[in-house]
Amino acid sequence: MCLFCDMLEGKIPMDVVRETGQSVAFRDINPQAPTHVLVIPRRHVENLGALAEYPEELADVVALGASVAEEEGLEAGFRMVANTGELAGQTVFHAHLHVLGGRRMAWPPG
Ligand code: 5GP
Ligand code: ZN
Repeated sequence: MCLFCDMLEGKIPMDVVRETGQSVAFRDINPQAPTHVLVIPRRHVENLGALAEYPEELADVVALGASVAEEEGLEAGFRMVANTGELAGQTVFHAHLHVLGGRRMAWPPG
């Protein structure tokens, strides 16, 4: 069972922001910034790096993230984050890009 696959199948509702044939962008249920959108490929792979096996789909996820950032008015700055592995904070093992913005970001990240 994969939470995001269940969402893509319509079993769990998602607040979709924008979608393409290969990817879906939707609002995170527990936002960490004024804008916090998750961008996922429709294909199930464990993390964003694994999606590099499908370069067009990887590019689609990144391009959709950039489009969402533009639509959300984040031109002053935003983060695209891909937590990879438990130690990095990954909790859902279906590739996803976090698009975070609308506030000043700290560096280094926590
Ligand atoms: P990760 O921790 O794997 O990098 O990111 C998983 C993200 O999924 C978290 O930011 C978490 O808030 C979000 N999330 C978990 N369950 C749900 C859900 O049911 N709906 C939505 N929209 N986001 C979720
Ligand atoms: Zn999945």
